[in-house]
Amino acid sequence: MLIGVPKEIKNHEYRIGLTPGSVREYVAHGHSVMVEHDGGAAIGFTNEDYELAGATIVADPAEIFAKADMIIKVKEPQPNECVQLREGQILYTYLHLAPDPTQTELLAKAGVSAIAYETVTDRNGGLPLLAPMSEVAGRMSIQAGAHNLEKANGGSGVLLGGVPGVEPGKVLIIGGGNVGTQAAKMAVGLGAEVTILDRSLPRLRQLDDIFAGRVKTVYSTVDAVDKFSREADVVVGAVLIPGAAAPKLLSRENLKNMKPGSVVVDVAIDQGGCFETSRATTHQDPTYVIDDIVHYCVANMPGGVARTSTIALNNATLPFGIALANHGLKAMENNEHLRNGLNMHKGKITYKAVHDDLGEKL
Ligand code: NAD
Repeated sequence: MLIGVPKEIKNHEYRIGLTPGSVREYVAHGHSVMVEHDGGAAIGFTNEDYELAGATIVADPAEIFAKADMIIKVKEPQPNECVQLREGQILYTYLHLAPDPTQTELLAKAGVSAIAYETVTDRNGGLPLLAPMSEVAGRMSIQAGAHNLEKANGGSGVLLGGVPGVEPGKVLIIGGGNVGTQAAKMAVGLGAEVTILDRSLPRLRQLDDIFAGRVKTVYSTVDAVDKFSREADVVVGAVLIPGAAAPKLLSRENLKNMKPGSVVVDVAIDQGGCFETSRATTHQDPTYVIDDIVHYCVANMPGGVARTSTIALNNATLPFGIALANHGLKAMENNEHLRNGLNMHKGKITYKAVHDDLGEKL
């Protein structure tokens, strides 16, 4: 199969669909790969790296869209990319169609078979192509918290790990899933005092085992949020209710009872945010202050560490991508998890939740 990897064109998107290492894997399976000129240059993957891995470097993305049997990307195709897609071609990328009728309509017109990373499943009921980005965001959330605690950044001047003779800072993590667990690992690693709230008792049991007494696990209630947010130097919002907007768990009232200069990091902002005072921010202007509390609410945190994110994403997308390259859409016949990724095919919406939201509008 001929695989095409265009450079991402969304504003400030530096990730790329395939690393040179992944290109080598496709080539080893007998496939050909075209990569757009300088597609990975911003994150240190040079044209030479791709050529050494066996790719052909192509100057014009139009050539990639015209010739490739499968297009591999990171972000949803932009309108001028959608119109270059066609029936019989596979698109393998993040799509997030439900809130995006324009893109859905354009993909329907194109007739392309579009597989959305975010709806591919695994046998444990998880979303394996979303998990790596949650892990990245979880780990970053503590960096963001620690950085913004510094006085020059509007914070209280607390060092999360403390030093010998000085007590460490306190981190409250609301939601102990993929994001929350990685946030806890980073916070524990820095030496902070960590409390995780979750609504799932089985999850709290797992966390208790994983951290072996190094974190407090507490059942998530209004009372618990109130109590632990008062003491916290950093609060990380990491809840998810699948398919729904995030519940508002930290209220403006809670904020008023927090210590001035504390930092709230709302990772769930991409689902609307789980703090009442959250609004989405960008890497260019990541924070704002309300009631003396620094808010960090970047909706696309993994984009800030695009090199690590690209490699982490490739680790997860590669096996499914190779199966698609080897067998085309037939790869789905024996793989329900990959089949769950198919969102559009020959002009029709093939994913129920997207159809429920947009089916009538098309
Ligand atoms: P997950 O499903 O692995 O974990 C969510 C956890 O929240 C679960 O353990 C669940 O039991 C818990 N939860 C649900 N309701 C709760 C409540 N009321 N109180 C406490 N806990 C509650 O999800 P995840 O992969 O960790 O993702 C968390 C959030 O981070 C999602 O909204 C996701 O979209 C977002 N995210 C954002 C970025 C970003 O760049 N901002 C990147 C990746 C993920």
